[in-house]
Amino acid sequence: MSNLDRRRDWTVLKLIEWSGQYLEEKGVERGRLDAEHLLAHAMSTTRLDLYLQYDRLLSGPELDQYRPLLTRRARREPLQYILGRAGFRNLELEVDQAVLIPRPETEILVDEVLQWVSENKLKNPVALDIGTGSGAIALSLVHEGPFSRVVATDTSSVALEVATRNSLMSGFSDRVDFRLGKFYEPLTVGEVFEVIVSNPPYVADGEAQDLEPEIREWEPGVALYAGPDGLAALRRIATGVGPYLKPGGLLALEVGLGQATYIMELLENTGEFRTVRVCRDLSGRERVVLAHGEMTD
Ligand code: SAM
Ligand code: GLN
Repeated sequence: MSNLDRRRDWTVLKLIEWSGQYLEEKGVERGRLDAEHLLAHAMSTTRLDLYLQYDRLLSGPELDQYRPLLTRRARREPLQYILGRAGFRNLELEVDQAVLIPRPETEILVDEVLQWVSENKLKNPVALDIGTGSGAIALSLVHEGPFSRVVATDTSSVALEVATRNSLMSGFSDRVDFRLGKFYEPLTVGEVFEVIVSNPPYVADGEAQDLEPEIREWEPGVALYAGPDGLAALRRIATGVGPYLKPGGLLALEVGLGQATYIMELLENTGEFRTVRVCRDLSGRERVVLAHGEMTD
């Protein structure tokens, strides 16, 4: 970061302003906000605390800590990978390039599952989270819901390492059972769940160039792409769910733009569900498909 002049006296405020503009020139959307996060991280303090010391001069070592972080963000590495953590609902999760950064949209998927479980007054249900990544969904379910256990699978062993560390940090590791493998393969015959949930990869292979560099160049492809139409994983999960869902149980899937109708039809055609419905996200997009019956016990 040669532009960040070593000879100049940098106050906290001047540095934030300069860096924010610099990041925005590099195409980062909220440059100033990200600069604040990075500087707080470099100074081992909080963003709020930065506001209280706007006029403070940065020391040489502090600038040395900060400079490489700014360079990484200017190369469009996601802020969360640089900080090594991401917020999801009530949790703070460790993230690195092995896992997708959990998205706010996925919080809606968790909301819908929790609401259904509560409406159906389920006691100690067991859930399956296919493609757990950082563990965001599985850990939120045990943290916020009445689940006695969640089986969390992923085809990526490095993702499961991150998820395992997150479960240890969360204090709920005894209730999450991580298993390596594709789709339903890590399950044993006869294993059934009240809830099956997944945010699988759903981006069409050909749509890679439409993604922001933060996603395309940094997040794991195995977490994003699902064949020529982006539906390969959703199709496999929807059509294979039968043997693993308890009668009356809930299947909850996050889907991509324009995919909900197709997945709903697929689920209706299985004849296994009484209700198949869609929920929208905060920007009004069809985002979560729910399929369920009614729990009898
Ligand atoms: N559940 C996390 C979340 O919502 O933040 C991660 C979701 S990410 C979109 C999809 C995850 O599914 C990735 O961690 C990826 O490794 C995993 N995955 C991809 N194909 C899979 C498969 N066939 N079986 C199981 N997991 C798979
Ligand atoms: N929502 C992610 C995106 O930013 C995709 C994640 C997924 O494929 N499930 O496009």
